Amino acid sequence: MPTPDYTATENLPILFSRDQIQARVAELGHQIREDLNGEPAVLIGVLKGAAIFLADLARNIGADCTFDFVSASSYKSGTQTSGAVQLIKDLDEPIENKNIVVIEDILDTGVTLSFLYSHFERHKPRSIRIAALLDKPSRRIQPIRADYVGFEIPNEFVVGYGMDYAERYRNLPDIRILTPEVIA
Ligand code: 5GP
Ligand code: MG
Ligand code: MG
Repeated sequence: MPTPDYTATENLPILFSRDQIQARVAELGHQIREDLNGEPAVLIGVLKGAAIFLADLARNIGADCTFDFVSASSYKSGTQTSGAVQLIKDLDEPIENKNIVVIEDILDTGVTLSFLYSHFERHKPRSIRIAALLDKPSRRIQPIRADYVGFEIPNEFVVGYGMDYAERYRNLPDIRILTPEVIA
């Protein structure tokens, strides 16, 4: 297999290496498996950033799971959020009376997840859990917390492991800090 060419992003500082991510995702998966206590669950990924996290997390949960995906837009320009969220893609299957685990890449202002939480709650699931790979508590506007957090991070813009800048960098295996030189 040829080695992928990540040379263009080599100068972006690594915040979490692929090994650190894998180790932490395994811990989260085992915790979720324990908490589900043998009951089945619907894993709901928030597109697109959570796709890779969901794929890895799901394989560490190892319980009876199905997948569903939603997509929401929070009208962000740069680091500002308007507080308005629009649902772009809703669930495919009903979640009434099911255990759901909502899977997000980053919990930032909390605007997106609190919107989604209320949306899911209206469909009367049996339980709702939130798993966020990264959490930036200093940025929170809405008082929402995740049940499972991979890593707390400072207020830096990160890319890789599913997370993008202008749709790029999602395929980087490590999580890196997007430095101002690259944005320019
Ligand atoms: P919130 O509604 O919590 O402010 O927005 C959360 C969403 O904004 C995240 O799920 C993610 O898609 C995006 N986001 C927030 N911070 C970052 C970041 O540092 N890097 C990237 N790539 N996306 C981010
Ligand atoms: Mg996201
Ligand atoms: Mg994005």
